[in-house]
Amino acid sequence: MKRSSYAGLPERFYARINPTPVARPRLLKFNQALSAELRLELDEQDADALTGLFSGNVIAPGLEPIAMAYAGHQFGQFVPQLGDGRAILLGEAVDVAGVRRDVQLKGSGRTPYSRGGDGRAALGPVLREYLVSEAMHALRIPTTRALAAVSTGESVFREQGALPGAIVTRVAASLVRVGTFQYFAARNDIDAVRMLADYVIERHYPEIQGVKKPYLELLRAVTGAQASLIAGWMNVGFIHGVMNTDNMTVSGETIDFGPCAFMDSYDPAAVFSSIDRHGRYAFGNQPHAGAWNLARLAETLLSLIDDEAERAVELATEVISDFAGAFAAARLAGLSRKLGLSTREVGDLPLAEELLDIMQRNHADFTLTFRALCDAAETPEADTSLGGLFDNPREYEQWASRWRTRLAREPQAPRERGAAMRCANPGLIPRNHRIEQVIQAAVEADDFAPFHRLSTALSQPYQPLEGFEPYTEPPLPGERVLQTFCGT
Ligand code: AMP
Ligand code: MG
Repeated sequence: MKRSSYAGLPERFYARINPTPVARPRLLKFNQALSAELRLELDEQDADALTGLFSGNVIAPGLEPIAMAYAGHQFGQFVPQLGDGRAILLGEAVDVAGVRRDVQLKGSGRTPYSRGGDGRAALGPVLREYLVSEAMHALRIPTTRALAAVSTGESVFREQGALPGAIVTRVAASLVRVGTFQYFAARNDIDAVRMLADYVIERHYPEIQGVKKPYLELLRAVTGAQASLIAGWMNVGFIHGVMNTDNMTVSGETIDFGPCAFMDSYDPAAVFSSIDRHGRYAFGNQPHAGAWNLARLAETLLSLIDDEAERAVELATEVISDFAGAFAAARLAGLSRKLGLSTREVGDLPLAEELLDIMQRNHADFTLTFRALCDAAETPEADTSLGGLFDNPREYEQWASRWRTRLAREPQAPRERGAAMRCANPGLIPRNHRIEQVIQAAVEADDFAPFHRLSTALSQPYQPLEGFEPYTEPPLPGERVLQTFCGT
């Protein structure tokens, strides 16, 4: 790991700060595969070194840890100063593909951006972030990763009382957010906005360098990345839960797993986050929230896009309005793969939407339904066993007969189709009740076996490992999770 390139930007972009040492750190999990990908040369056997590094108790020579400044719209309200209140960017690693990746501790102590907070994280949210971010990666959705988790041996105090403290180490293509642009734009610091934009272009979108309107193209690139990301979420039933502008990266990676959740039965109105009282970030609203956030990014770039204000607005508006089309195309591509359609016909989107409607009306499990379709697609004759997932199996069967008629016009052989569909329809997702069980065992009984087991299960979502079948199941009525909490 080396000094972060972000620390080479002017001092007003961040605060220099070291993690606050913790009392009795204990390594809970180290992601050896990710460490190797980052070429960190860490020895899996050297628990002391790993514990020192990932607790923030030991800072490697040459690093210049920083807390990054950012602002953000939180549920529509602009907050001019947020920033890393409990996270510290340790440094950067160049991975095996030559990509620079940020390595950041989260829960590592107070920073100048902590406001009233303690700078710490509770064990539950740390385990959730570790499991869900790694699951997202295994699902092949762009995401920050988890490199390690340690418990601190200290308590943090939250609404529920004293909880065990922990630190998660996350790895990101970069940690620049829409809110980072807003921080400088709100201060009318156009030079800083330009420096930040240049940094992001160089780091994430180098193909834009030297084009005629690089800042407009930056907006277009982020818009495309976010459209495809959000479509990716929705095709696996993911609800981010807190799509504030400070939680939206410009790289197009998923970030912040506070109140996130995966749907069991399909419902576009699904909301799990306890703080999302009006359903602003409900499952089906995610593309709207994304477009809204991109409009906030556009506002920060206007004066760089064109000297003439009206022209800048016109150009930026055009790009933002492309979001809907880009999202729709990415979503349809995903749904087509999920239904086993390798060619495109005009009736495909209505066919997919009809299935979703029927799933919603019949409380069908999103993941199990699509996974069962993979088997059904391999049998040319009607297979009605899937109907059991629907309150009224007839509704499914009527839809399935139309689907089979459509499949008959596909060039793929049934077996080939089934295999392709199993790469688009995970059999195993991080179900909320499983995450809760893991957290409960860890927090209440200091038992991490369920965490390790779930972590293994989630590493193979498209080809569930033998012996992990119970993890594919939806919750029993008594196990259902109704709300998730940020835990901050
Ligand atoms: P989040 O809800 O995680 O996106 O955080 C929103 C803002 O609150 C960010 O600026 C965080 O750094 C800050 N924050 C959240 N939890 C804490 C904490 N325990 N201590 C200090 N700052 C925090
Ligand atoms: Mg955040």
